[in-house]
Order: sequence, then structure tokens, then C-alpha cells
Amino acid sequence: MCGIFGIYDHPEASNHAYLGLYALQHRGQESTGIVSSDGKHLHHYRQMGLVSEVFTKDLLRRLAGRNAIGHVRYSTTGSSELKNAQPFVVDYANGTISIAHNGNLTNASLIRSELESQGAIFQSNMDTEVIVHLIARSKGKTFLDRLIYALRKVEGAYSLLFLTEKEMVVARDPMGFRPLILGSLKGSPVIASETCAFDLIGAKFIREVEPGEVLLINEMGIKSFKPFPHRPLRQCIFEFIYFARPDSFIFNRNVYEMRKSFGAQLSKESPAMADMTVPIPDSGFPAALGYAAQSNLPLELGMIRNHYVGRTFIEPDQRIRHFGVKIKLNPVRELLKGKKIVIVDDSIVRATTSRKIVRMFRNAGVKEVHVRISSPPITDPCFFGIDTPKKSELVASSHAVDEIRQFIHATSLNYLSVEGLKQCVRGEEENFCYACFTGDYPYSGLKK
Ligand code: AMP
Repeated sequence: MCGIFGIYDHPEASNHAYLGLYALQHRGQESTGIVSSDGKHLHHYRQMGLVSEVFTKDLLRRLAGRNAIGHVRYSTTGSSELKNAQPFVVDYANGTISIAHNGNLTNASLIRSELESQGAIFQSNMDTEVIVHLIARSKGKTFLDRLIYALRKVEGAYSLLFLTEKEMVVARDPMGFRPLILGSLKGSPVIASETCAFDLIGAKFIREVEPGEVLLINEMGIKSFKPFPHRPLRQCIFEFIYFARPDSFIFNRNVYEMRKSFGAQLSKESPAMADMTVPIPDSGFPAALGYAAQSNLPLELGMIRNHYVGRTFIEPDQRIRHFGVKIKLNPVRELLKGKKIVIVDDSIVRATTSRKIVRMFRNAGVKEVHVRISSPPITDPCFFGIDTPKKSELVASSHAVDEIRQFIHATSLNYLSVEGLKQCVRGEEENFCYACFTGDYPYSGLKK
């Protein structure tokens, strides 16, 4: 779970990278970084924290040059510490390269062990670093040749941005797990994980970077290459369910519309006798709208979220029960007392959140709490860049739906079916990865 942004040949490259990353902040909140190039040298800054906390005007001024790439990180491999922050920058025999990666390589540890046995020394514990080592070892003549050599050896999910002194290179894996979009800011090429980054800086959407495509961007313009064997598409359906921002347009669809359709489909599959539909903020909103409209139940904002919650709170010594969830969410008692409600949320992972939420509604006097989840039960971990815990921690991997209902104290619990989810991407069902709901992975031999 990461976000990446790049801009080429623009007088305010690092300022725009900063704004692009700000719009992509939902894709990773642990660390952030920007690398710029002035045509001769790369300049970089990486730090733990949010984009708005990390960068100052002064820092951005020091990231000089007309080209820049940036990254926001939420670790899926490697620990959460500065040495794993991206973009990663290295000097090698042919110059300096920087790399920003969204995704997860599934054969990275194998390649790493091989390289280490041959004497390679790694600076981080990120899967991404193997790409840099492979580039450095390649005998290819140009940077592009070396990069293609490296990418032919790795498997898994990658949406990648590279910046060298003079060029920017963009690559998306042949199965297209993670989104990657090409745009233009008054003629300057821009690349982002999601279109919401373009909207903020006023860039125009051009098209998606195609799965298996490599773009070479330099002073001659943009050149497209398709150097990899064809693979079936496996775009991540969870980007639509939870991860991407609703205003973004990815995988050729608008995320908000998709979420609404999941909610509507859920209502067709699992209606409920209730007085109102209540969305769980913020991730449950679009699906709840779809659910309410389809079932003709009034939509009420029965749970309010505090939007100013930071990462640390000072809690009184005498601890408050369920403080963690209470500080974020609070029910509207007067609206809810004595009512039967349907609550709609996007997913259940460990079920700790839904358990606390149902308890809050019950404490507010709700008579019946019908829980509807706009995705199927998550039974298997993701190896392609979504941060899901181990299989043993996924509640649906070892519990039937009714057991989960009892655990969260819901009156009823229903999930969207896999068939229903596919129905919402009709005509393109085969182009998505559903492995977290089915265990049917596009690569074999994966275990967590
Ligand atoms: P849990 O308490 O583990 O069941 O958390 C479920 C909640 O976490 C849902 O309301 C989702 O909005 C959110 N969620 C789903 N997937 C993820 C993820 N990969 N990382 C962080 N939060 C998530």
C-alpha cells in the first residue's frame, strides 16, 4: 500500500510532487520522500511522517530541478523505519538512480538470498531493493536495457517510477495489479497512482499506463515499450472496495460509482427490515448510499467521525474503555434510540472494529443492528501490496459468517458475494484479482 507520483520537465517539479503526494496520502501514512533531478544531480529528502508534516517550503526549494518523483509509504514488506522510506536512491557504476515502488514482489526474498550469496550488501529490508541490485548487475547498454533485464527477473505487483539524472522511466507489471495513470500538466508528463493527484494540480488525464508497459520519458518525449510476455490481467479489486479514493478514476472506472454499485448489489442480495441505513464513516459511505437507494431505506448519518484525530492522544491515567474507537467515532443517540438500523461498511479484517461499532450502537439504544459488508469475507492474505494480516488473524479464514455475527453481537450479518462483486464489473470479471476472498492466487507457492 503506497502511492507514487512523478513529473517531468516542469519548472516547479518538487512543489507539484509535494501536492501530488498530499492527494495520495490515503495510500500510505508512514513515511514520504521526494527525489528531484536538475539534469546533472539528484537531490532527495525522505522522512517518517505525513507529507504536510515532513516537507517545508525551504526543503522543497532545495529539491531543485525540473524533474521529480515521490512516494508515500505504508509498509507491506520491510519494517516501518527510515531506511525503508522511498524513493530509494543509489549510486552505481553508471550514475545515480532513484526508485519509487507501489506493490509487492513475490520472489524478492529468493532473489535477495541469491544476490547475498554472491556478495551483495543490502541497505534496507525492502523487496524493492532487489530491482536496484539487478539493474546494477545487468550488462545492458542503456538504463532502459538494464531495467528491462531486472524486471524480467521479478514476479508480483509493481507500479514503478525511476528517476536518473536525465530520464524518468515508468513501469507497470504485466498483470496490472496496482493502478498507474499518465497525465499532462500543460505539456509536462505527470504520473500518479490515482487521478485525484492530477485534479489537485490541474493536470489532464491522458490514459492508464498499460499493464506490462514501460515508458521512457526524456527530452525527446515519451516512448512506450512492451518488453514482457503477455500475462492475464489481475487488477486489484480491493482498490475499488477500500483502498483508492472515491473521486479517482482507475482501472478505467470511477471508484465512487463502483462502491455505490457494490452497495446496491449487496442490498439485492441481503435486504434488511430496518428503519434506516447508516454508513460507517468514511469508507462505508458510497456503498451505504447504494444500499439505501436500492432498498428504499432512508440514509441517516447515525455515526459521526472526528476529522481531527491525530496519531497520538494523551489518555487519562484512568483509562477510558474503548478509547481508540471512541475518539474517532460517536453515534447520534437521539436519532438511533429504539430504532432498527442497517450499518454498511466496506470490509471486515480482524472484526475488532465492527465489534466495537456494534457495541457503540447498542449502547446508544439501538434495538437491532444489521451489519452489511460491501465485500466478500477476507479469507486469505494479499501478496500484491495490500496490507492484510496473516491468514490466522483474518477472522473469516477460520470462522463461519454466523460465528462472526455472534462475535460482533450483530442482529444479522451479510457480506457481498464474490459472484455479486463480479456482477458489478460485468464484462471484465476475468481482469481482476479476487485472491483475498478466494485464495486463488495468480502465482503458486505463496504462504503467509
Ligand atoms: P478490522 O477491525 O480489522 O476488521 O478492520 C476493518 C476496518 O479496517 C474496515 O472498516 C476497513 O475500512 C478497514 N480496512 C480494510 N482493509 C484495511 C487495510 N488493508 N488496512 C487498514 N484498514 C483496512
